[in-house]
Amino acid sequence: MKPRAYSAALSLPLAPGFAPLWNAMREGLEGVLEPHPAPAVLREELALAHREAYLHHVFNDGLTRAETLRLGRPFGPETLQRALHSAGGTLAALEDALRWGLGLNLGGGTHHAYPARAEGYSLFNDVAVAVAKARAEGLRGRVLVVDLDVHQGNGTAAFFQGDPTVFTLSVHAQHNYPQRKEQSDLDVALPDGTGDAEYLAALEPALEHAFASRPELVFFNAGADVLAGDRLGRLALSLEGLAERDRRVYRRVRESAAALVVVGGGGYHPNLRLLAAARVQTYRLAVAELWSVARGG
Ligand SMILES: [Zn+2]
Repeated sequence: MKPRAYSAALSLPLAPGFAPLWNAMREGLEGVLEPHPAPAVLREELALAHREAYLHHVFNDGLTRAETLRLGRPFGPETLQRALHSAGGTLAALEDALRWGLGLNLGGGTHHAYPARAEGYSLFNDVAVAVAKARAEGLRGRVLVVDLDVHQGNGTAAFFQGDPTVFTLSVHAQHNYPQRKEQSDLDVALPDGTGDAEYLAALEPALEHAFASRPELVFFNAGADVLAGDRLGRLALSLEGLAERDRRVYRRVRESAAALVVVGGGGYHPNLRLLAAARVQTYRLAVAELWSVARGG
């Protein structure tokens, strides 16, 4: 049996311009995992984490001009549908992780969404919703969010501020979006142009600290926007550096025997071949490092 990987790209018509990246990803992941359409998250699932007034607003009125500016992309029924399937993929991956130890969403990682507002391409905070879903299903242990997208996980930090059962780690570019950062349990802010060696040297103690919280369930935001040359990045990792980043996370997960959910996060590299390779690598490594272990093989 191969692990499933959920994608909204299999649930909805492809977004304009997304086909080349998607085709390269599918090719690279063929035979390693089983692509599945991401289901739409239910409104009552969103309500486990998001404020009801916000959901009512999004579903009934849509966003105002100011809110759309904050979201950073046009809002309409299609944006809403994509966000629902993106978050639904993370919930489906959560169920796989709770059953088999590893769950994969090729999308998700919309970490800028707050309990009651959208921001930075993020309408719903899929990881916050998934944590709430896991709690609703009886998970009592500690949860860890390892957010290695190049942008700070400000929304996620806001969701879990003051919650001692969820540890939030964000390793990000200091001078990048969002301008006003929130406080995660551990923030590692890196200078512009940070390359592989410095990045990995900063990551290691951060992972050590974060996994000392002894999580039962880990969410990994595997943003590929740390790559050198990413349009919205500011860091300078190579493809090899990214592989080592991912491996270090997976090794910690294996040692801790926690269940893992991988979500995609950002990736805006103009070289789609490189971006696809980075995406493929993240998911192939997850399967290689964790799937047989997860299933007790
Ligand atoms: Zn990002």
